[in-house]
Amino acid sequence: MTGYREYHRRSVEQPQEFWAEKAALIDWHRPFEQVLDASRKPFAAWFRGGLTNLCHNAVDRHLPERAQQAALVWESTEVERSRSYSYAELHREVQRMAAILQRHGVQQGDRVLIYMPMIPEAVFGMLACARIGAIHSVVFGGFAAVSLATRIDDAAPKLILSSDAGSRAGRVVPYKPLLDEAIARAAHKPEKVLMVDRGLHAFEPVAGRDLDHAAESAAVGDSQVPCVWVDSTHPSYILYTSGTTGRPKGVQRDTGGYAVALATSMRDIFCGRPGGTYFCSSDIGWVVGHSYIVYGPLIHGMTTVLYEGTPVRPDAGILWRLAERHRAQVMFSSPTAVRVLKKFDASFMRDRDLSSLERLFLAGEPLDEPTASWISEMLGKPVVDNYWQTETGWPILSIAAGVEALPPKAGSPGVAMPGYRVSVLDELSGEPVPAGHKGVLAIDWPLPPGCMQTVWGDDQRFIDTYWSNFASRQAYSTFDWGVADEQGYVTILGRTDDVINVAGHRLGTREIEESISSHPAVAEVAVVGAADEVKGQQAMAFVVARDASRTADAQAREDLQREIMQTVQTQLGAVARPARVLFVSMLPKTRSGKLLRRSIQALCEQRPTGDLTTLEDPAALDQIRKALADQA
Ligand code: ATP
Ligand code: MG
Repeated sequence: MTGYREYHRRSVEQPQEFWAEKAALIDWHRPFEQVLDASRKPFAAWFRGGLTNLCHNAVDRHLPERAQQAALVWESTEVERSRSYSYAELHREVQRMAAILQRHGVQQGDRVLIYMPMIPEAVFGMLACARIGAIHSVVFGGFAAVSLATRIDDAAPKLILSSDAGSRAGRVVPYKPLLDEAIARAAHKPEKVLMVDRGLHAFEPVAGRDLDHAAESAAVGDSQVPCVWVDSTHPSYILYTSGTTGRPKGVQRDTGGYAVALATSMRDIFCGRPGGTYFCSSDIGWVVGHSYIVYGPLIHGMTTVLYEGTPVRPDAGILWRLAERHRAQVMFSSPTAVRVLKKFDASFMRDRDLSSLERLFLAGEPLDEPTASWISEMLGKPVVDNYWQTETGWPILSIAAGVEALPPKAGSPGVAMPGYRVSVLDELSGEPVPAGHKGVLAIDWPLPPGCMQTVWGDDQRFIDTYWSNFASRQAYSTFDWGVADEQGYVTILGRTDDVINVAGHRLGTREIEESISSHPAVAEVAVVGAADEVKGQQAMAFVVARDASRTADAQAREDLQREIMQTVQTQLGAVARPARVLFVSMLPKTRSGKLLRRSIQALCEQRPTGDLTTLEDPAALDQIRKALADQA
């Protein structure tokens, strides 16, 4: 086997040969004629001429070997239920859902919006769309009417699949009233709404529009719905970015390239074993859920765990108990989830038999070193950071341990994954900066298979947003700052709009956050730059302490504040020292768990907070307001 360097070199220097080989990891109904169609740069079309189907690759093709193996295991600590579906059962359920869609006129190319809690029917819905060539657009179940309405208008679905309610931390969250309100607000009206009634929240169906899933299921019986063979470039889904930095973008993904990229990543990055169990605690509303709850593990013939619940209920040991119960081989979670666990007594996590577990993957936000080592020691397993975006669909940076287990580097998600021509560019000229220098993390054309094809319905926005940021070079901008070392390990220094300028020094908020996190009393921190008359900007730090007694009274707060400032001063220098360190018990985050720094910054500067439709809990902003008012 060749090592990582040779593997990556080949993937970018001979992409045609490299990806033609990887394409053999999936089934094709008709072979492709061209690996990469470069005729419309910066667009890239992968495996043109090939016919395939995502659902066939995720389900049908495993039937000869794995019919009785569990494909999907559902665990809900919300409604205290669990269920397991073998590949044969999944095949049956997906066909049933596909038959219902077809019966109501859904055809190849039609959009189906899925607004669902984490229940098996949501997965059946996604796979059923893929099966018949319909394009799904999953909208995170926690979104309220306004966010949902904009996505309905953008994707213009023929049908919406939804449910009466979800449940969060034991509380029923009704979906139907939000959905009805969203449809009323939206200009586009779906013809049908297919309702999975969980019996959690009574609702009045809208006559002529709403369909009952149970009745429909009974009506179609055990239908046989063959896979529709679609072109490799046929869109499989639309998924909106988290909206951390502004208006969400509708990422459009293809079919063949995505399947090949996922299959490659499952083997080379995640080291998943067909027949093993993959447990990803994300949500199907996010890209991580699309790629590594649904499609990736199934394409790879694994058992995937769908978890409805939080990481701390009934207690902070739940994820590890589920991992133990299902003999998880691979786990995937987020730094945010791990930081939440850090606030609990570690005894919840110990004493589990995790002998089956090989690695824990974390992604979505910067993984600070203390959090990484804490969880790695707790589990006694390697923790693998991976950096990517909704746009790319699978990791840009990580360690491809399936190729060569390069040593991890603290604070860095790793090195470029196959096909990614990663470079660090000067933000204006677009010239590559030398190793050790900070710049914008960019990817040279072509984006590898599986990455976004375009912005849904707006090719020009794809070019303008992603490919038009540098004067001398047409490269894809990630909008993240990075710095690469001589070995190619990249460290992410925050988003390009999260940079602060203190008396002429440009500092990434991430660098300051990383330093503050190294203080043992700190559970979480957000740093923003706030306008300052003298210095241009000054850094403001909002800290969640691990132990509330450290911030119980004014004296304790002052002491901790001083220690934190000193920590930053020692590690980064006086210029990076935050002007204020304020304590809160939670930070404002998007529903996907990302810090909403732009809204904190707005509050610091007494500006309107802007679009808050993706905000998880408005109480967190009140805390910031209060902390600011108290110190004034
Ligand atoms: P929007 O683009 O709408 O503002 P978003 O960027 O938050 O939303 P996502 O695609 O969910 O939407 O998030 C991708 C971003 O998350 C990356 O660009 C990066 O800023 C951050 N990120 C993801 N994984 C990591 C990681 N391992 N280390 C550091 N940052 C990460
Ligand atoms: Mg983004």
